[in-house]
Amino acid sequence: MKDVNLSDINVLISESDINERVKQIANILNSDYNGEEVCAICVLKGSVMFFTDLVRNLNMPLTMEFIRLSSYGHSTSSSGMVNAVDIKLPDLTGKNVLIVEDIVDTGITAKFLLDYIAMNFKTKSTKFVALLDKKIARCADVHPDYYCFEIDDKFVVGYGLDYDGHFRNLKFIGYADKSILQ
Ligand code: 5GP
Repeated sequence: MKDVNLSDINVLISESDINERVKQIANILNSDYNGEEVCAICVLKGSVMFFTDLVRNLNMPLTMEFIRLSSYGHSTSSSGMVNAVDIKLPDLTGKNVLIVEDIVDTGITAKFLLDYIAMNFKTKSTKFVALLDKKIARCADVHPDYYCFEIDDKFVVGYGLDYDGHFRNLKFIGYADKSILQ
């Protein structure tokens, strides 16, 4: 992969816009779950920042689980296959499950996880919330129940999202021109 510098990254969504919107989505979830207990599942690594900011604004009784899926590897496009690096979960039967994803792109990862949960547990409810919805790239018939921002077909980094392992720590969401990434 090409070397990309911080100076190559353009801001797409600012830190303050992210903070404001995450709080808005948390308020909607607080209202929709109406005090019922939730098991929130963080899909590592990309959703780490979104997950920690979101759950700090949720006020229902809550447990947290962490799983790791990968579909991009060392690339800027989906491999079309999901690698379940670590998908150990407790029994979710009878629970309100909230999957927290960084970005829904082709939708293959989300579909894999929704199918996995449906096959293995009879949950009370299963919903999923995504930081970003890249609708234009969707292949699988899957749509987040909640999302913070819809984006164009750009490869984005920051706020948990990486380019070859880098830029996850940026406080904003940014993108590099395609010519720089190829
Ligand atoms: P999908 O299975 O929906 O195609 O892709 C899901 C995963 O691919 C995301 O959880 C994320 O890790 C990665 N991904 C998709 N689009 C982007 C992007 O624009 N930037 C980065 N850094 N990762 C992405």
